[in-house]
Amino acid sequence: MPDFVQIRPLMFAAVIAALWLAESLAPHFAAFVRIARERRVHGLRNATLGLINGLLGVLLLGSVIVLSVHWAQTHEFGLLRWLALPGWVEALAALSLFDAWMYWWHRLNHMVPFLWRFHRVHHSDPRMDVTTALRFHPGEIILSTAARLFIVVLIGMQLWHLALYELILAPVIAFHHSNINLPRKVDDALRWFMVTPWMHWVHHSRLVQETNSNYSSVLSIWDRVFGSFRFRADAEMIRFGLNEYPDDDPHQGIPGMLRTPFD
Ligand SMILES: [Zn+2]
Ligand SMILES: [Zn+2]
Repeated sequence: MPDFVQIRPLMFAAVIAALWLAESLAPHFAAFVRIARERRVHGLRNATLGLINGLLGVLLLGSVIVLSVHWAQTHEFGLLRWLALPGWVEALAALSLFDAWMYWWHRLNHMVPFLWRFHRVHHSDPRMDVTTALRFHPGEIILSTAARLFIVVLIGMQLWHLALYELILAPVIAFHHSNINLPRKVDDALRWFMVTPWMHWVHHSRLVQETNSNYSSVLSIWDRVFGSFRFRADAEMIRFGLNEYPDDDPHQGIPGMLRTPFD
């Protein structure tokens, strides 16, 4: 099994820990940080899902993806294999195409009711901080891995392309969920090319038209290209979560989150 399968969760954990510390010292939404106990319980619940998903990835899903990429390589299959571009152009094309796939996969998670059952666990979080980046139902991880098996073959990705993408994706996801007090000007500048906290806060809004916007994972360009970009300056007024799952709902606990897709 290649190193990245094991390294990714460790690196992700280190980035999460660093951002958690930054949120403690200089939060954007200070009210949540002031209620220390609530923040800890919320963080531990989300981290438990993250731990389950990390184990699932290391023990099972990582090796399945490796087999799929290996098959494409040995059979000279996939768009990039056929195009035979110079190495660095091929790598840039692989990363961009895969990021575009991530956009459409996320958008499908909002459009297809079956996929939404799983993805709504990520959106039912009534608070947002870096631990929200860990809050995914294991079923969503399995479904997205199943879809990836075909996509990596169709694109003709090499293993190191995928490893590099994962190395970029993990810190970007942690960053755009975090509650760090990033100056608005910095967020404005970064948002031209990547997904920032401000952009992703809108995605976690309870207003349906805002939930169904800003689907990009790394590059923000996809939302602009496919017409789903939304922005609002009054971030303080955004209510996070889903109306069906209030703060004290049993679905906010670990068994409740695991049960959510099946209720
Ligand atoms: Zn979403
Ligand atoms: Zn999110």
